[in-house]
Amino acid sequence: MLEIILTPVLFLWIGFIILLEKKYPFRLGLPFFREGFWIDFVWYTLIQSYFLKILIFDFIILPIKSNLETSNISFSIIPNLLEKFSILHSPFSIILQVLFFLITHDLYIYLFHRWQHNNKWLWRTHEAHHSVKEVDWLAGSRSHIFEIIINQTIEFLPIILLGASPEVVPIKAFLDAIFGLWIHGNINIKLGWLGKIINTPVAHQWHHADDKQVFYANYATKFSFWDYLFGTAHVPDYKPTQWGLPYLFPKDYFAQHVFAIKRFDERKLFKKRILRELYLIRIRAIKKSPKVFEKVLLPKTK
Ligand SMILES: [Zn+2]
Ligand SMILES: [Zn+2]
Repeated sequence: MLEIILTPVLFLWIGFIILLEKKYPFRLGLPFFREGFWIDFVWYTLIQSYFLKILIFDFIILPIKSNLETSNISFSIIPNLLEKFSILHSPFSIILQVLFFLITHDLYIYLFHRWQHNNKWLWRTHEAHHSVKEVDWLAGSRSHIFEIIINQTIEFLPIILLGASPEVVPIKAFLDAIFGLWIHGNINIKLGWLGKIINTPVAHQWHHADDKQVFYANYATKFSFWDYLFGTAHVPDYKPTQWGLPYLFPKDYFAQHVFAIKRFDERKLFKKRILRELYLIRIRAIKKSPKVFEKVLLPKTK
């Protein structure tokens, strides 16, 4: 039910962010259909998020919950707490719960994100997110499957196990999308003093810059005060000169995932017969489908 209200608001928000990108661009001349646009939109936003939602909720979180229930172990403390303060049935209780999970999860994501940048193995789960060279509203969707499974399990498992109201999960997922679109927008907005509390597109554009200094800065997702609190904020008055990774990264969705486990040069992939055949099976299947899929599902080869 709640989704019926939140989904149109999300679409309006996408329109608003695109409008801000046109009106106040951080980088001038960024094309709307930038490199990797279709990979991010079709593979990451539509296909990957659809399947990962099923995997995370139906195959990880709910089995853990029912296992605990059959063992008579319960962490369901939120309803008891709300009852104690007599706000169980007040709409204020939803706001309170959302705020609690918003802040605690944001601190977790700040620390884990920081660790990903400082650990060479964890970096492999995060580099895909940094591989976009033209960062815009859609760029935030590009995240390795491993990264999403870890982060969303840690995000939603406590909400379910602690017995939060059923509205908390869709509201939290909605806010994730709202902030993801906002901070990745190619928008020249710093929000003044408020930018030291709420994260801004300029701070996150810097985080995505291919710049040694900022590789260890601006880890915040929703609240920038973590960066100011822990001394990792870097929002100078000038702009970065380049974005993305300082090394070659595959353009194909599947190759981007394999790259986290095994390093290879995507351009040399076709020299190995088995890989060539595997790759071509997919291309042939797509080419037999309507023409539009070919454009959308296959990476642009230069
Ligand atoms: Zn990062
Ligand atoms: Zn990002």
